[in-house]
Amino acid sequence: MSSGFVSIVPVAIELEHPEETAVTVVGWLAEKEIIIPRQTDCVLGSAFGFPPGPRYKDALERGGNYWYFEEFNAANGLEVITGRTVFHAGGNGLSAVTCPCCRADIIDNDAWGDFLAEWVAGGTSHLPCPECGQKSLLNAYDFTIEQKLIWAFSNFGLTFWNWPGEFKAGFIGELEDVIGTPVKIVYGRI
Ligand SMILES: [Zn+2]
Repeated sequence: MSSGFVSIVPVAIELEHPEETAVTVVGWLAEKEIIIPRQTDCVLGSAFGFPPGPRYKDALERGGNYWYFEEFNAANGLEVITGRTVFHAGGNGLSAVTCPCCRADIIDNDAWGDFLAEWVAGGTSHLPCPECGQKSLLNAYDFTIEQKLIWAFSNFGLTFWNWPGEFKAGFIGELEDVIGTPVKIVYGRI
């Protein structure tokens, strides 16, 4: 069976102290009982995650399949990522990468692929457009297909595995305040 996930990724890309933010966010989520602050084998992406807490539904729009989520999904936890990561939606790859300045599609130019490899290794987060030469933050480029965000980039992120339904806008807004920057959301499936 495939698994769905939701990754919440700061637009700012580079948090100054991602480990400290992780502690703050986990503490906040635990206090609201959205998660249980105890690491278990409940995610697919890494060794440990945090299981859903008794009030996890407070974060979600109503109407998800809670019963299935609680009874059958072994991967139903929160994975907290610190370190530069390409958060991708899985499935089909990109069909376009659009510059925010000149709107050129640069997907066929090798420059951005090379740039990403350098970014993961610690390079600058501002990608120069091979068409117009303007440098823009990686997250400002359009990595969407049919209005669905496919890729986002940061040194911090939260991935919720198989949580049923969509997250409430109010919850995302509070989370943005705790993290200290607006976020992008990648809905994915593997
Ligand atoms: Zn451009």
